[in-house]
Amino acid sequence: FLSDKSARIFVAGHRGLVGSAIVRKLQALGFTNLVLRTHVELDLTRQADVESFFAAEKPRFVILAAAKVGGIHANNTYPADFIAVNLQIQTNVIHAAYRFGVKKLLFLGSSCIYPKFAPQPIPENALLTGPLEPTNEWYAIAKIAGIKMCQAYRIQYNWDAISGMPTNLYGPHDNFHPENSHVLPALMRRFHEAKVKGAEEVVVWGTGSPLREFLHVDDLADGVVFMMESYSGLEHVNVGSGKEVTIKELAELVKEVVGFEGRLVWDSTKPDGTPRKLMDSSKLAGLGWTPKISLKDGLVDTYSWYLENVKQ
Ligand code: GDP
Repeated sequence: FLSDKSARIFVAGHRGLVGSAIVRKLQALGFTNLVLRTHVELDLTRQADVESFFAAEKPRFVILAAAKVGGIHANNTYPADFIAVNLQIQTNVIHAAYRFGVKKLLFLGSSCIYPKFAPQPIPENALLTGPLEPTNEWYAIAKIAGIKMCQAYRIQYNWDAISGMPTNLYGPHDNFHPENSHVLPALMRRFHEAKVKGAEEVVVWGTGSPLREFLHVDDLADGVVFMMESYSGLEHVNVGSGKEVTIKELAELVKEVVGFEGRLVWDSTKPDGTPRKLMDSSKLAGLGWTPKISLKDGLVDTYSWYLENVKQ
């Protein structure tokens, strides 16, 4: 992968949190032939459009970072969108990539594919060993189907499709929507707006006790390049930081980075979601890759991006 910087690489979802980080990384490495399409230019849920695109553009590599994503509230509110859109996007892209001669494809999912009460830290082989967390099962079922599709195409066609399952990601280009985003950008925005308005308190959802692991998206992009270069196995691979914090600790850290000086108020009518979600990323570490960005440094970086882009 790294030896041909002029290879055509389709990064699906290049405007999103993950895709934009992968594009930055590939450009920094000197790749010159990235194939990119906005949602308006190519609707990945339309099978015929996806096939015409692959037939015309003939990418050599595909990194599938396009998905409908969202936090606990969005998943609860739009279950049909989460299952249907994600199944459509991934089925169209994976099949067209195989059919039109793509050499290698990397499919990205998330840690919510694992059972709610999986052993912690969660190893790859915990997949499909128990019931899912109900608040995001729609998205999870779609992502599990994507992993299985990559495995099936490898088994039946000997085609090089791999899957990477990142933990909770954050960074530049995240979705900072007040209700529909994930906890980290939601809190960053809420603390920022409270600071600007001079408010005395900020509401945080749930009890604060759930544990979450966070990975800066630039670390993920680095891991994706590593996997494209060095991994061609049947099983999906976890990509985590190995470090977990409680939602309360996260809220205090975001508060400090933003510089909000008021109080936190916990809204226990909002769901906590799964109690703990730490991935076992020892498989990727064993292959030779580990993340580099601390949560504090990553938050500082993300907040500076937020400040530059808040007006848009
Ligand atoms: P999850 O990791 O799939 O559960 O997704 P989220 O990132 O949406 O939520 C993680 C945890 O943060 C849950 O326990 C939420 O209740 C908690 N949380 C606290 N405040 C917020 C908030 O403002 N938005 C979101 N999305 N979650 C919050």
